Amino acid sequence: MSPCKLLGASTQQYRQNRLINLKFGFFLDGVLPSRQFRGMDFELTNYMENALHTAEISANRGEVPVGAVIVDSKTGRIVATNGNQMLGRHDPTAHAEMLAIRAAANMVGSQRLVDCDLYVTLEPCPMCAAAISLARIRRLYFGAFDPKGGGVEHGPRIYDHSTCNHKPEVYGGLEEKKAARLLKDFFASRR
Ligand SMILES: [Zn+2]
Repeated sequence: MSPCKLLGASTQQYRQNRLINLKFGFFLDGVLPSRQFRGMDFELTNYMENALHTAEISANRGEVPVGAVIVDSKTGRIVATNGNQMLGRHDPTAHAEMLAIRAAANMVGSQRLVDCDLYVTLEPCPMCAAAISLARIRRLYFGAFDPKGGGVEHGPRIYDHSTCNHKPEVYGGLEEKKAARLLKDFFASRR
């Protein structure tokens, strides 16, 4: 098994995606998600920290705090980073992932981001999950799971469909607690 391989090729394996082979050993996914990545590459956490920081900036603007970072896996460089801007742009599609994908594609000069990985603080919604597939993102790392609005592990499970041409490798629960806390605090402060 190759290092860091989370999800299998088949849909069934995808659904049972509870066993991860990380560089430093095996961890059970879904039991203690925030612990899955303990001991994993510091870089992964670092990129997610960056996404979390971007989410905080969104919160300060009154936007739902979600942040996304796109990394060129070959160089390790951050290609684009963005937070939710639906309110600011009067655009219901201005989700962090959408904005980051647009910026990255523009930066790379291609509609396909084949060597890129996307880190986002919340499980992507169906729209963003589809956009991630269209962009040919290599790996998707997300923080908090979103049972209500998510489209990867919940709802329409975009990558489970046979019509989905490109399924990124998906890793959920990276810095989950921090990502969930950010959202919880945001909504609590607005009540
Ligand atoms: Zn979205």
